[in-house]
Amino acid sequence: MSLVLKITLIRQSQLPFASKAISLFLEVPDNEEAFLFERMFDNKLILHCSRAVVLLLALGLTAAPVRADEAADLAQIDQIQILGDTDNANALKQLQSFQEKLPADASYQVKLKALKLMIGLLYDAGKASSAKKVNATLMALAVKEGDQRSINFAKVNQAFDEIDDGHPEQSIAKLTEVQDAIKASSDPELKMRISSAFGAVYASTGRFELALSYYLDALKLTDLQPRRQAHAKLYHLDSISRLYTTMKNPEKALATVDEALAISSATTDLKSLASLTMVQGVAYAQLDRNKDALSSFQKTLNIARDAGIPAVEISALDNVADQYLIMHNFVEAERTTKIAYEKADAIHDEYLKQLANVNWGFALGGQGKVVQGAEKINSVIAYFESIDSKTNVEGILGELGLMYEHAGMYKEAVATMHKKETLSDDLFKAESAKAVATLQETFNADKRQKQIELLGRDNQLKDADIKNRRLQQVITLLGAMLTVMAGIFIFLLYRRVRKTNAKLVEANLQLEFHAVRDPLTGLYNRRSFLEIMKNRELSSERERRENDSDNPDCLLLLDIDHFKQINDTWGHAIGDSVLMEVAHRLKKTVRDSDMVLRWGGEEFLIYSPKSNPTLLKKLVERVLSAIGENPVQVGENAIPVTVTAGFISLPFSDIPEEICSWEKAMQMADIALYLGKAHGRNRAYGLARLLVPHEQAMPILDHDLSAAISANMVELIEVIGPVKRKEINTN
Ligand code: GH3
Ligand code: MG
Ligand code: MG
Repeated sequence: MSLVLKITLIRQSQLPFASKAISLFLEVPDNEEAFLFERMFDNKLILHCSRAVVLLLALGLTAAPVRADEAADLAQIDQIQILGDTDNANALKQLQSFQEKLPADASYQVKLKALKLMIGLLYDAGKASSAKKVNATLMALAVKEGDQRSINFAKVNQAFDEIDDGHPEQSIAKLTEVQDAIKASSDPELKMRISSAFGAVYASTGRFELALSYYLDALKLTDLQPRRQAHAKLYHLDSISRLYTTMKNPEKALATVDEALAISSATTDLKSLASLTMVQGVAYAQLDRNKDALSSFQKTLNIARDAGIPAVEISALDNVADQYLIMHNFVEAERTTKIAYEKADAIHDEYLKQLANVNWGFALGGQGKVVQGAEKINSVIAYFESIDSKTNVEGILGELGLMYEHAGMYKEAVATMHKKETLSDDLFKAESAKAVATLQETFNADKRQKQIELLGRDNQLKDADIKNRRLQQVITLLGAMLTVMAGIFIFLLYRRVRKTNAKLVEANLQLEFHAVRDPLTGLYNRRSFLEIMKNRELSSERERRENDSDNPDCLLLLDIDHFKQINDTWGHAIGDSVLMEVAHRLKKTVRDSDMVLRWGGEEFLIYSPKSNPTLLKKLVERVLSAIGENPVQVGENAIPVTVTAGFISLPFSDIPEEICSWEKAMQMADIALYLGKAHGRNRAYGLARLLVPHEQAMPILDHDLSAAISANMVELIEVIGPVKRKEINTN
């Protein structure tokens, strides 16, 4: 029971996995995978659900004279469209049979209208690839008829597909092309649809403000629509509220949903209603109003079931299960995820199956079936790895680590957290690389501008050159003088070369500096430490011992706690300032002879040669206090920062370094660090010495510190950081 509570407490203070099914989808995406996820969410739930609304507006547009049987056909399509609002599956069936019966010589208007409706209904049924094919048919038909307007509609559909396929640039290019083509015409429907698509593409690439302004434009245009105005309004209010949840502004999302619900009575549009209640649930969940969230998702569930939109129904089930997880109703959570799984299986949707499995796993874990739950979760991780969806793997690993930790499975917790850590760094690197690429692009643009200027100047020079030629004869006459001038010129040239050389020397010095220094913090980098260790390996054990056997070197590995949250809350620039300040504090705390290194992203290493083992604990205490006692001040923000550390001496417990190398020692310090993470952070664990012969201890210590500790093989030093110490004193 206490296990469950503990999981829960951590869940709620951090980002609950329980709300992961939502958060995976709806949190502000922080990299490409997240965008992809967002898009998947769009596909499966809301975008498709409402795409038809706007698509169908176009149905009644082509108002040419109509024959009687043609009029009957058009009216029948209208009827099917209305049915589609409340029962997608049935409407789809009816439209399919309508098309089958349609004679080959049916009018263009009828064929066009049926195709357009078909696209919308297919999207809502979750059959995106079929919808794409129908759009291609529509395009071909419109081209054959020379119907430019329908060609443009098909192009906008393609632009939507490009978003789903992960090609936002191509989508923007296509939309810009159509937008330019229709600029002069007054076509509120097409214009609205273009704005809508622009909104969707910018939302998918994280440019939220821009997306919002396009959605608002589209919303304004709904007033000019000749038919289904209320539907169009609902669609755009829905998109806007969804965007607000992505921007983590649940209050505005709820207000927008309310606005939409107020006009929803003017329609019988169940699909929009399903979508809106889903967004409402997400916004409530973001506000931790779990009961309200649960009731919204249950509404979605019922509506989606009635309206025949299974993908939405399954996602609603996932979200319901999620809320049960947050409320620790693990039995209900399991029951719900099971249904979601079976339904996803029935429509052969692998992705939705995996999603159900995540929550299922955590529901099992919550009921104490940790191994069984973890097995499920690990299979989902394997799936996400196979589709290279790193952000999701990272998110799931974090929560899985917590589950292990609270079940007392420290070995698994450490391994899981380690894996997550590596992934976080990879993701950060990818993000940085993107930022650098953007910078590079700006830089290249500047360079191009300069080249153009230079070219301009070059041309001027050439003009001057032509004039000079005319003077050449005169110059020949002044040959003697020219020789003198050439002498001067050579002298100037020589001086310039010397200057350039001096600059080169300076640049090389700088390069050397950067080869051993980390550019952000100015600390030594990992490479410089590896150099030192390489030299150490070259000296013999005897030499090393002769140096000083009583005073081994100390390795203290530190990792900032919850640094990702600091980045997420304050932004990367402030994150960087925190790293600089931590570096500064560390430098100030250690002896001059100690070396502080930036080991990785938010990891530092203190290498303290010939340290006194009895003073080691004091050093570690000083370090934890230096970081954690006072918040880091960046501008007006006071940011609380703590670190977790692992430490060990080298040689360790008098074991020859041929047997316990510096690498092994670092590995053990790293494991000690993770033990500190698993025990609540803001603390350090150090390995003091072995209590049994190394032959017996090393094979276990190597990989399972917890086991070695339980077996009393190693003496452990624990140092608690400043805030926690205060907490303990006051308790
Ligand atoms: P834990 O307490 O378990 O260590 O959690 P954490 O959030 O600190 O750990 P995690 O490894 O998940 O995240 C580390 C983050 O550090 C990931 C990356 O975004 C960030 N990071 C790495 N290098 C830099 C950097 O140079 N600047 C900034 N601002 N952030 C960085
Ligand atoms: Mg780290
Ligand atoms: Mg960290």
